[in-house]
Amino acid sequence: MIMPQESLIVEAVPVFADNYVWMFACNNNDYVAVDPGEATAVSQWLKERKATLSHILLTHHHNDHIGGVESLQREFGAKIIGNKADAHRLPTLDHGISQGDSLDIAGCQVQVLDTPGHTVGHVIYKVADALFVGDTLFSLGCGRLFEGSPQTMWQSLQKIQNLPDSTKIYPAHEYTLTNHGFALSLEPDNQDLLELQKELMRKNDNNIPSLPTTLAQEKKLNPFLRTEDDEWAAKLGLATKSPQERFAILREKRNHF
Ligand code: ZN
Ligand code: FE
Repeated sequence: MIMPQESLIVEAVPVFADNYVWMFACNNNDYVAVDPGEATAVSQWLKERKATLSHILLTHHHNDHIGGVESLQREFGAKIIGNKADAHRLPTLDHGISQGDSLDIAGCQVQVLDTPGHTVGHVIYKVADALFVGDTLFSLGCGRLFEGSPQTMWQSLQKIQNLPDSTKIYPAHEYTLTNHGFALSLEPDNQDLLELQKELMRKNDNNIPSLPTTLAQEKKLNPFLRTEDDEWAAKLGLATKSPQERFAILREKRNHF
């Protein structure tokens, strides 16, 4: 008998203008935080729940993802986990990880995938049906290519697309509405995008996160995950280009949107 996949409960702590620190727990009140760019809001969130912080997972070295780490480590004694290969520019790691690792963290089974492109050392974490993607994938968008080629990022996104469609995607930023504008500019008559716009506006007006999204939804509507769709590419005048070339052209366009 196939058991239904267990769904992880994940909560958001908003920090800065548009970052989320994602929080989850497998053992009661023993939390794991992903990319705490700032400590105060996370600390307060934990105290309100009389909870502890056992681990911190880091996707990459940018300050809006690591800024709160040292303070949270001091306050809660949390163990820090991040890419071994990027340790020189991350806070001091208690445990260095790399592609393919599977860890037992505070009762959760955590799988590591490396997704270079936004930075060379970017990694993402899969816990049950949840995927913490940092700045690799956003809802309807993807991360900027600070240290990787379009080819590298395209391959990283392929790796994500091979996961089950029901995977819940937890990016580190609330960029959905802007990304939606870009997607709609490419394809102004897409009924699914037009339908989604109402929902995104309502959430935005009420300060409700648009996230998580699902891999199924992103495969259908995210321009950066549709580069293999020839019919769609033809509409954009990109029929003669390879999927990787289409990706590079769209990423460049998005930089100037
Ligand atoms: Zn970043
Ligand atoms: Fe970021």
